[in-house]
Amino acid sequence: MSAKPEDFFKNIISHCKEYGFIFQSSEIYDGLSAVYDYGQNGAELKKNIREYWWKAMVQMNENIVGIDSSIFMHPTVWKASGHVDAFNDPLIDNKDSKKRYRADVLIEDHIAKIEDKITKEVEKAKKRFENFDEAMFRSTNARIIEYQTKINDINTRFKAALNDNNLADVKQIIVDCEIVCSISGTRNWTDVRQFNLMFSTSIGSVDGEGSTIYLRPETAQGIFVNYLNVQKTGRMKIPFGIAQTGKAFRNEIVARQFIFRMREFEQMEMQFFVKPGTEMHWYEHWKTARLKWHHSFGLGETNYKFHDHIKLAHYANAAADIEFQFPFGYKELEGIHSRTDFDLKQHEQFSGKKLQYFDTESNSSYVPYVVETSVGLDRLFLATLSAAYKEETLENGETRVVLNLPPALSPIKVAVFPLVKKDGLPEFAEKIMESLKYDHIVTYDEKDTVGKRYRRQDAIGTPYCITVDHQSLEDNMVTVRERDSMKQERIAISAIPQYMNERVGLTSLLKKL
Ligand code: ATP
Repeated sequence: MSAKPEDFFKNIISHCKEYGFIFQSSEIYDGLSAVYDYGQNGAELKKNIREYWWKAMVQMNENIVGIDSSIFMHPTVWKASGHVDAFNDPLIDNKDSKKRYRADVLIEDHIAKIEDKITKEVEKAKKRFENFDEAMFRSTNARIIEYQTKINDINTRFKAALNDNNLADVKQIIVDCEIVCSISGTRNWTDVRQFNLMFSTSIGSVDGEGSTIYLRPETAQGIFVNYLNVQKTGRMKIPFGIAQTGKAFRNEIVARQFIFRMREFEQMEMQFFVKPGTEMHWYEHWKTARLKWHHSFGLGETNYKFHDHIKLAHYANAAADIEFQFPFGYKELEGIHSRTDFDLKQHEQFSGKKLQYFDTESNSSYVPYVVETSVGLDRLFLATLSAAYKEETLENGETRVVLNLPPALSPIKVAVFPLVKKDGLPEFAEKIMESLKYDHIVTYDEKDTVGKRYRRQDAIGTPYCITVDHQSLEDNMVTVRERDSMKQERIAISAIPQYMNERVGLTSLLKKL
């Protein structure tokens, strides 16, 4: 039972709703675009991913500490950071459909389509390789070179247009590539305009210029403005990091692909403060460490790749994304940026306060350089869930939907079933629940056949189900069934707590790092 690729993503979205992972925000009022709520299982999975990140960053690294700064900040923060003037996306409208697009995304999608053609040509050539025909090979080769040249040309022009902030040329690329609107099918485009992504609101009782504040578009600035507070009170020595998780808000032009691009989302960011001149070493270090962290989820290492930025943001001297193969293609999951001393210097200038570090080794003061790791929790949730979601046909012909989540991240760790609702089996099951509930989220189910109960737990990714039967009353043994292999084994009830701790605790993941 495997769904067509176009249905696969739809199936994941329906699954998220049906099993209490994600609901549309304000659904009874027809929802709010690009805003989502996490249900009972989604909230647990999200919390577990957040906790795993926090432990991997803060608990496992002696020189990293965590903070929790406010969403609202002094408006000058966003002047200093460059967000008021430069946190824009280029937008373009199709005059016929009135649909709005991000101009850069239109061009990137166009390039992705050409890349697809290359992949198809290569696959065709591989298939034909058995009856090798030189003329055929030559013509394939010529087509691949033609496509690659096209991609290079578009990339070069696009990079130049972005660097020069030449919006007219961005539009010209769209025109020259003959990109059409997916709704109207026409090329009737408006000019490209810049659109600031920050949400603003007002603080206090008086409306007006002075009281305008922003909902933070990233959590990083809360770290920068607290850099000296943390360094001094924590007596931190460079190199050291400050981590934080929290909500960020962006008025995204194109809200699409479910929780991939939201207007309210959560980030998990870490700013690592280093001595100027050592930032490339730490940039490489964090690229490697973060990729390893993603690989530890066990969802397939080939699903991840690095993508170096064509255009560097105004604050960066090196930047790469860790991309993940979502059901709709490789897309950014996490950004790793070498941000230089840009942010701290800007805050020094705008606040008039010194944000320097006194280096006792060299007996000198400097503004530290910063390497940032920034991952979207919701995107990570989507990556995890979509790689874990499997529609399987079993040997006996039955089908099941299973989430092969890393057990430590599963919303519910153990389900306990009495084989029947009588003969003291429910009471016995209750006792097992009691022994586990202090350490894990445990659930109880006595309805329907055990097979049906297994299916319900598979669908939410519960790694272990424990069944209590009549024999259990006599020998104090129970059947433990593992989700992925569906293998069953009998174990003593006294062994259950340790059995579970070894398998479903975060330590099992942290040890892989
Ligand atoms: P994109 O190019 O996809 O808009 P970005 O480069 O603007 O992303 P960053 O500013 O580097 O993203 O933010 C860091 C991380 O925050 C991203 O890697 C992503 O995981 C997450 N993120 C950014 N914007 C959103 C959003 N609108 N919805 C969900 N997650 C987001």
